[in-house]
Amino acid sequence: MTNADWKAAAERDLMSLGPRPRLFERGEGSHVWDDEGRRYLDFLGGIAVNCLGHAHPVFVEAVSRQAATLAHVSNYFTSRPQLELAARLKRLAGTGETGRVFLANSGSEANETALKLARLHGAPRGAHTILCLEGAFHGRTTGALSITPKAAYQDPFAPLMPGAKAIARTIDALEAAFAQGGVAAVVIEPIQGEAGVRELPAGFLARARELATEHDALLILDEVQTGAGRTGEWFAFQLPGMLPEGALPDAVTFAKSVAAGFPLGGLITFGAASELFYPGTHNSTFGGNPLAAHAADAVLAHIEEEGLLANVAARGAQLREAVAELPLVAGTRGAGLLIGIALSAPVASDVVAAALERGLIVNAPAPDTIRLAPAYTIGDAEIDEFLTLFRDALAAVAAHRTQEIPA
Ligand SMILES: *Cc1c(COP(=O)(O)O)cnc(C)c1O
Repeated sequence: MTNADWKAAAERDLMSLGPRPRLFERGEGSHVWDDEGRRYLDFLGGIAVNCLGHAHPVFVEAVSRQAATLAHVSNYFTSRPQLELAARLKRLAGTGETGRVFLANSGSEANETALKLARLHGAPRGAHTILCLEGAFHGRTTGALSITPKAAYQDPFAPLMPGAKAIARTIDALEAAFAQGGVAAVVIEPIQGEAGVRELPAGFLARARELATEHDALLILDEVQTGAGRTGEWFAFQLPGMLPEGALPDAVTFAKSVAAGFPLGGLITFGAASELFYPGTHNSTFGGNPLAAHAADAVLAHIEEEGLLANVAARGAQLREAVAELPLVAGTRGAGLLIGIALSAPVASDVVAAALERGLIVNAPAPDTIRLAPAYTIGDAEIDEFLTLFRDALAAVAAHRTQEIPA
């Protein structure tokens, strides 16, 4: 297929959901190559998914071997990869004995499961309100969309799920919402990824834990983007300052990086929340099939064995420090290798385009923010290459802006 052909084919045959400026053909480590053989440094990682980069031998071997052994059997049965993954996730999340795991196929499906968990918890006492925060992104399926309070995403699909309620990201608003009563659950991203890598106000999560307990509501954390090691801890709620020592959420959802590119998501429950689902109330045909489960288990085992979380924390700090010196950069947000770069002007989409032209993949979750979510395996070479390309892209956008300012 020639360059013109694939563009026409994409326009004609794929659902019209946004521009697709490149066609990528292969990847290796932190690089991908397009149809013209041009090489790109991938610092978006398929939106915080490719945590081992591209074509990592552990991923390739796990998927190939499991595909040749047993790919799918349905959830009428179980498989060793499913059991091994569930046990590992419980251990990494620190659930203790009483935790349980549900395996699904995506972040949205994981959050749908969390919403049903909230219903099971609240319905018996008539508590139907599910709180979410302004700026939240929980997915595009109708339930998850109902707790994703963004007009452009929600309005074409109204009416959405009843009971969803968006509140401001302040402790005052949280307290006021609980005081109204009828809250079944509060769903929170420990760091809001799609909103532009935005951290919660200090003490917010700890207060949410207290209020949820006081009002017999569930504290559900959406760690689809922050989980599986992305922040330098297995889950962001384990970062210092998130929850008081020993406190835990009632449920955590995960997806994105957990299987390094194989589609898998899910829900981990803690304590009493583990006993809410019962036979017949939920399931998923593909969810946690041996192929997906083994991919995730092998990826997580590799991260553990290689101590990659230490690299995530160290490289994240190194990147944040280096980026702060660059033109147009006003500051950085996030943790580990989920980094939001605040720009001094709303030119993030120009920066993304300039970067792509230079062979660097990043994205713009907000008009003034660039997001980085590179592989956990990056080292000095990738960071040096990133800084060279990114500095050049920023300088080009800055120069263009100077020209535009009338004398
Ligand atoms: C990406 C994301 C989702 C949706 O996940 P999908 O796999 O696209 O369905 C939900 N919540 C958060 C925090 C996300 O970043």
